[in-house]
Amino acid sequence: MSDEAFRILSSIYPQDISFLEGDDPFRFLASVLLSAQTRDDYVNAVTPVLWKEYPDAESLADADLTRLEEIVHPLGFFRTKARNLKALAAQIARLGSVPDTIEELVRLPGVGRKTANCYVNHILKKPAVIVDTHFSRVAHRLGYADGESPEEVEREIRAAFEPQDWSRLSMVLNLHGRLVCHARKPECLSCPVSAYCRSFQNPHSS
Ligand code: SF4
Repeated sequence: MSDEAFRILSSIYPQDISFLEGDDPFRFLASVLLSAQTRDDYVNAVTPVLWKEYPDAESLADADLTRLEEIVHPLGFFRTKARNLKALAAQIARLGSVPDTIEELVRLPGVGRKTANCYVNHILKKPAVIVDTHFSRVAHRLGYADGESPEEVEREIRAAFEPQDWSRLSMVLNLHGRLVCHARKPECLSCPVSAYCRSFQNPHSS
């Protein structure tokens, strides 16, 4: 699928969009895990403290859980995140390295498809459809997807777009959702793709 709205958005938003910092495979995977339900800049503020005390998977696997909870507390859901982080570290320490397929990644503690796709895109530099709440909302409004679950949306996008467009589409729809196509009050009157938007052209369509 080649779509005008995607072409326009892609020409507007910067080419290099990076929300989470870091290029070390384990650290990046851990950062994505910590970014659930919070802002990436908050994660980027917390991870330097984390890596100073626990620089790798082995040390993090042996970390004191209470201390981990303290460190990740600002990110919300701190008990779950600390527990998942420790379990993830233990698994990676056992494996010796982070796996490099989606199928293996989603078997790791706390790693879902969004986290796995982020990793595949950022670390492995492979095409990935990264479905989060922003992406899903904009994809529905533009008419790119109808599915309810993130898995369905990912499947529809994979079928509709060429693999070389997946990562870029993920970035620009995410950014458009954050900046313009807000959940409650989308800025449709100033939106550059309103002419191609299913929701704007036909408000009763979705
Ligand atoms: S026209 Fe409105 S609903 Fe459609 S993509 Fe733009 S901001 Fe979102």
